[in-house]
Amino acid sequence: MTRDERRAALEQIANEVRVCSACRLAEGRTRAVPGEGDPDTEVVFVGEGPGFNEDREGRPFIGRAGGLLVRLLGSIGWQREDVFITNVVKCRPPDNRDPQPDEIAACAPYLRRQLEALDPAVVVTLGRYSMGTFMPGARIGQVHGTTVPADPATGARDALVFAMYHPAAALRTPALERESFEDVARVPATLQRSRDHRAGMAEAGDPATQTADAPAEAPAIATSHVPAPAASPAKASAPAQPVESSAPAADDASQLTLF
Ligand code: URA
Ligand code: SF4
Repeated sequence: MTRDERRAALEQIANEVRVCSACRLAEGRTRAVPGEGDPDTEVVFVGEGPGFNEDREGRPFIGRAGGLLVRLLGSIGWQREDVFITNVVKCRPPDNRDPQPDEIAACAPYLRRQLEALDPAVVVTLGRYSMGTFMPGARIGQVHGTTVPADPATGARDALVFAMYHPAAALRTPALERESFEDVARVPATLQRSRDHRAGMAEAGDPATQTADAPAEAPAIATSHVPAPAASPAKASAPAQPVESSAPAADDASQLTLF
């Protein structure tokens, strides 16, 4: 898919989400929250569901949990607009209760289609319900900070899934907040590992990239210019952004690609 095709696919999904009434969460919502971010990103963060502020604004992770997510990203040199951020349910559960299995199932096709369009290298799950979609049966206390290959049935056809605590849980418990900073520090290396794997797959699967005299361990496509420990999502590895102290704040909606 080209960038424009990805953008159009994400816009189409968002438009369907905004008018969806496939589960009971439609009744209590103010605005559905499809998700937002860079359509060309390599990294997707998946939370649980919108809270109070997200429901009012129609944007994910803009409240206190979002503040911590932005700090976590900042600790590895990333900004929220470098990645794509969404949730397993796109409408706020009443009183922020846990999403129910039938609600998650009803909403799952939207997340699957978003992942199909984005084709991320890494999916970072935030919290138990998101983890449950990508690591069925896992326990968050055991798998946070670890990686598994994504089941292509999730829509992420060749991705690594990295589990983290939910930022709201981390805000309640200082030990979890500390562990969240330790966990997120592993995401860039996970991205590099996934890039290497995907480049290897592309070489193996595409005869055009194979030449008779290529060394067996040919450098992975498009990764050699990015040092592994500093791997950042596609957009962040683009030429440095202009340094303008008067630039709009990073969370200014005008700076974001909204879907
Ligand atoms: N918590 C979530 O899980 N998602 C949001 O978008 C905001 C808070
Ligand atoms: Fe539709 Fe998902 Fe909202 Fe339920 S939570 S109404 S399935 S968009």
